[in-house]
Amino acid sequence: MRLERLKNNGIPALKLNPLQQKMKVQVSEKVKKEVYQFEEVDCSICNSSEKILIGGKDRYGLYFPVNACRDCGLVYTSPRMTQAAYEEFYNTEYRKLYSGVETATEVFFENQKKKGKHIFNFFKGHELLKNDTKYILEVGCGAGGIIDYFRDQGFEVKGIDLGKEYVNYGKEKHGLNLETATLADLSNERKPDIIIYSHILEHILDVNKEIELIKQFIKKNTLVYIEVPGIKEIHKNYEANILRYLQNAHTFHFTLDSLINLMNKHGFELVEGNQFVKSIFKFTGVVKGAVNDFSSVINYIDQTEKRRIFHPFTPNAIKRNTKNIILNLLDKSGTRGFARQLKEKIKGR
Ligand SMILES: [Zn+2]
Repeated sequence: MRLERLKNNGIPALKLNPLQQKMKVQVSEKVKKEVYQFEEVDCSICNSSEKILIGGKDRYGLYFPVNACRDCGLVYTSPRMTQAAYEEFYNTEYRKLYSGVETATEVFFENQKKKGKHIFNFFKGHELLKNDTKYILEVGCGAGGIIDYFRDQGFEVKGIDLGKEYVNYGKEKHGLNLETATLADLSNERKPDIIIYSHILEHILDVNKEIELIKQFIKKNTLVYIEVPGIKEIHKNYEANILRYLQNAHTFHFTLDSLINLMNKHGFELVEGNQFVKSIFKFTGVVKGAVNDFSSVINYIDQTEKRRIFHPFTPNAIKRNTKNIILNLLDKSGTRGFARQLKEKIKGR
């Protein structure tokens, strides 16, 4: 194992609330009793079985073997839960484990809406919103916060998701055009100008099938927006701790490079992209072989692991820690509420 501290010992990297704790125990029990079964898989990009094991658990302390493909650098989970296991997991534990709350909330919706603004700005910043960009389809839209932002900007929108509860929330509370469906369920539909996959692709088991399916639902100029948590951004977004990045719902852990490899395999070409990963692809039909990302990604993981010890002393971490210390002192002295009111008053002026 590349990172010994990621051995499967059950210890989480996050503080879990009681609901998360309960869900974690429930998942562990199902794994132990083989209610949740696992399957060994090869690399989804280059089909190679040559890989090195990076770690054995996720942020919640659940069994989670993560590997890097030696022949193309794709980082992926194997053995991973089977389709049947994942289906039950998404219906019972996933949302509660991930968010720590029972049901869809307005806070969740508003966060998604902010994400919608970021995506809109990404397109706008690269001058990719044309006069004939009218119709946006989002796959895996949850309650629809992302497309709600696009609707506010005057676009026609539609969202599909398998989570009934979230779909109903967006339909009833926000009057959004949402449907409980997958892309495969749509037929003879109007083809979108933009199709959005935000934090979806890293969950899908058969990504090759999904990308082939996208081809049937796009027209010549459709832009495909794909956002996934980039493994090369760990030093920015996860306190430089790979363990905080890893979660058992993810079957793939992309870099921009491995995502390009995957899309190139299906004839898509990168239009814009970064290591966040925010990316836009279009279909050209030109199929390209994978460029090996293995040494680059392993080098990044090793370097980040070394830098992790210094992370508490980086400017952002110092700022966050100082803020927490001050807030704790205010709490202890019982003046935090007063300090907040004062802050609001100053802001109001
Ligand atoms: Zn590979």
